[in-house]
Amino acid sequence: MKIIIASRAGFCMGVRRAVDMVLDASKKYKGPIYTFGSLIHNPQVLNVLSEKGIRVINEVPRKGKGTVIIRAHGVPPETTADLKSAGFEVLDATCPRVVRVQTIIKKYTNKGYVAIIVGDRDHPEVVGLLGFAGSKGVVIGDLAEFSALPEFQDAIIIAQTTQNTIHYKAIKEYVRDRFPHYKIFDTICDSTGKRQKEVSRLAAEVDAMVVIGGYSSGNTKRLFEIACKSGKPAFHVETESDLNVNALVDARSIGITAGASTPNWVIRRIYRFLETMPIPGKHCWRRILFDVCRNLLYSNTYLAIGAGLMCYACSMLQGIETFFPHGLIPVFYVFSMHIFNNLTGRRADRYNDPEKSVFYDNHKFILKTLAALSGLAGIVVSFMTGWLVLFLFLFMSTSGILYNIRLIPKIFTGGKRGRIKDIPASKTLLIAIAWGITSALLPAFSQNAFSVSVSGFVFLWATGLIFIQTAFFDLLDIHGDRMVGRETLPIVMGENRTQNLLNMMTLLLMAMMITGSVTGLVSALGFVLSICPVYLLILLVLHQKGRLPASIRLEFLVKSHLILIGGVTWVYSFF
Ligand code: SF4
Repeated sequence: MKIIIASRAGFCMGVRRAVDMVLDASKKYKGPIYTFGSLIHNPQVLNVLSEKGIRVINEVPRKGKGTVIIRAHGVPPETTADLKSAGFEVLDATCPRVVRVQTIIKKYTNKGYVAIIVGDRDHPEVVGLLGFAGSKGVVIGDLAEFSALPEFQDAIIIAQTTQNTIHYKAIKEYVRDRFPHYKIFDTICDSTGKRQKEVSRLAAEVDAMVVIGGYSSGNTKRLFEIACKSGKPAFHVETESDLNVNALVDARSIGITAGASTPNWVIRRIYRFLETMPIPGKHCWRRILFDVCRNLLYSNTYLAIGAGLMCYACSMLQGIETFFPHGLIPVFYVFSMHIFNNLTGRRADRYNDPEKSVFYDNHKFILKTLAALSGLAGIVVSFMTGWLVLFLFLFMSTSGILYNIRLIPKIFTGGKRGRIKDIPASKTLLIAIAWGITSALLPAFSQNAFSVSVSGFVFLWATGLIFIQTAFFDLLDIHGDRMVGRETLPIVMGENRTQNLLNMMTLLLMAMMITGSVTGLVSALGFVLSICPVYLLILLVLHQKGRLPASIRLEFLVKSHLILIGGVTWVYSFF
């Protein structure tokens, strides 16, 4: 089954900014934290906020303490002033596009213009805009209401940012004809219109449409109406449990879109559900293959094999021809540490990958046993290899276990930090370094082949590749990680900057290997291996362009770069 996600599905810029500000507020501002009105029309997000202790207030109390966040719609200036005088710290998450409209209204009403706002009188954004117009604001819903207005000497026409563009166009034409002295501003946000156009296009391409979003979300309902008009079966769902699997069984392609208040992790969960949906009697072999791949990924077996292959390539690059037993150390290390981390990091998986979370819940005992046995096997092989290797293996394993454990008591940190994992972006860097040590340095130490220049060069290359791989997954998990308060690289640096960094790093690693090979620092294998970062760059770009959504297939493809490294090295070994 082909599943296509609309490129504009999910949070618009303003909603995403507001949600991020609310999630960050508990770390930066004094509590308790409130939002003024429901932040967005999405029950899943509101549940998460409520679990985090973020409450909603709809009126300004006489007295209060803590921080109040103004949602993306904005509020009248008096409300902000009242909240401050009640004793709250106020954090303004009004969407910059709404702020632009507020600024226009304020500027012109101060000059004596009347502000004619085209919008829904009761909508919170319009209530807020009206507050900026003081006594000079008028709200109209349609052309009929506009024609009933008296003529003003000076007036401006502005629209609620989510107004229907066709209605507003008709009003603008009427104004240009009858009142050419009125100033008209284009204030409708293009995000809504583009999203709607994309749904019409997508619905024409696929056999069925799934529209995700809160049942009370106006813009999601509008998307659903458009999808229904296409004549294709369309389903409005809030979560994967609302999906009618029987109705989708015959669809060979499914389009997914989502309202502006639907978080990516909800879209991703539904994508993953559809991707793994059992379809009785259909493409049986593909289903089996898919299940095998998924289990290899979830159990970290695929990654552990990849770690062994990375070690094989790093050994060959350093001129080490033998592979056993040191080649087994990264396999055992990665297998045990990644299972251990998956077992302790299931909170984020509840959002990012609920199936994986269930897999770990169902197989907890066996996975724990396998992780322990694998760790023991790693110790035995390291001991057989040498004292230095054993010391490094034990050091890295202990650090890996301590990563999730509180090292500084809560009393000294105010309960906030105190674990290695609390250091922002530490996960990406530490995982990459651990892989670099096991793949590049341990073989060199075990075979007495350590050379600062060659081993250091290979260590940097392996560390760089794993850094890209880990940060790529951090990018896919950004929304779920933010929900549970993790500070991964993309959360600290921002999504775009992380993407640019990773793209640049792939090119740098490619150039590095070619240079190393040309200068004779490493063999011609380096030249051949330079294709591996290019493979990752292609996946990164395809994902950034929306051509490869976060899915089990993408996870499999990303981790396959390690298989590519092993395969390329194996083929090279024959020449
Ligand atoms: S729809 Fe547009 S104006 Fe409204 S919050 Fe989103 S980005 Fe801002």
